[in-house]
Amino acid sequence: MPPYAESFREALAEHMREVLPIKRPSINLHIARNSAQVSIISTAMKTKFHRARGKLGPLAARRLSLRDRHRMLTASIVALSSLIVPLAVVEPAWPKEIEQARSQPKPSTCDRSQFRLVLDVGHTVDAPGAISARNVPEYDFNLRLAKYLEQSLIEDGFKKTVLLVTGGRARPSLFARAAKANGLSANLLVSIHHDSVPDSLMESWEFEGKQSHFSDRFRGYSIFVSYENPHLDRSLLFGRLLGNELKDRGLQYARQYTQPIMGRYQRKLIDPDAGVYRFDELIVLKGTQMPAVLFEAGSIINREEELDMNSAERLDLTSASLRAAVKMFCNLTPPPLRARTGNSATRSSAH
Ligand SMILES: [Zn+2]
Repeated sequence: MPPYAESFREALAEHMREVLPIKRPSINLHIARNSAQVSIISTAMKTKFHRARGKLGPLAARRLSLRDRHRMLTASIVALSSLIVPLAVVEPAWPKEIEQARSQPKPSTCDRSQFRLVLDVGHTVDAPGAISARNVPEYDFNLRLAKYLEQSLIEDGFKKTVLLVTGGRARPSLFARAAKANGLSANLLVSIHHDSVPDSLMESWEFEGKQSHFSDRFRGYSIFVSYENPHLDRSLLFGRLLGNELKDRGLQYARQYTQPIMGRYQRKLIDPDAGVYRFDELIVLKGTQMPAVLFEAGSIINREEELDMNSAERLDLTSASLRAAVKMFCNLTPPPLRARTGNSATRSSAH
């Protein structure tokens, strides 16, 4: 899909959420040409009439405030625009499996003591990744967060959690970490990173007497999956679980990756609710033989968010989100092959 259509789609989805602030369980933001917009409008009207105690007609109409009328008018304009703008379908962001896991958790089938999560510390001491607005290497942020997450997961009973620290030069380290992870028989890999922006978007400032760079334009976490990972469906499942846990705790994902201004860093947004992007080429994702996501915990080139990333509150929010997502993912993980029989084992081996 051309970039302009992608960003338009996102802008429209965002707009719809603002115009029609309906609580999540009732959201069914399946935007197709023509029909879905109309159904969204009718949902808004039903909601409003419901608030007007079911009194339809002029009385109910009079009860609509100017703001409500404006909302409905705006929604109507959006609906009409679908007649002239070819829109792609926004995939439902809440597959049944995720919705069920979050709303009606089943008794846990997850054996935490046997579940192996690999926390990959992004970059190396020698090739430390991005530099923050206050000149701290990304690697330092990655290592600190990954250690914090490791500790909290072990406390939750995930005793097989492994912190994967890799040394050496940047590119060889990518293959080395994928090879190491593959030797660990892991159930899931999460590669921990902190975000920056392309050089062209950097601005200059002086920090502690040193010429430094920043960009306050964008902020937020983001999650990437590779369609070349052999467990794409499970990778995407975990990405969605994690993104929605972060969102539930008030965190926003980075929106800029769909924008042409990102150049070669531009990505396709797979889940506009959870903030999951597609990034096929990442070696740590496509070279690993287990479900894997790359998690940018926040932007350290944004001066305000860099301070957030240093705060105990943000560490706790991130940790709580990851732990909740890992627990749900573990619950949704099939038991090992040896414990299964017949067709189910055959199906599983196809992954
Ligand atoms: Zn990084």
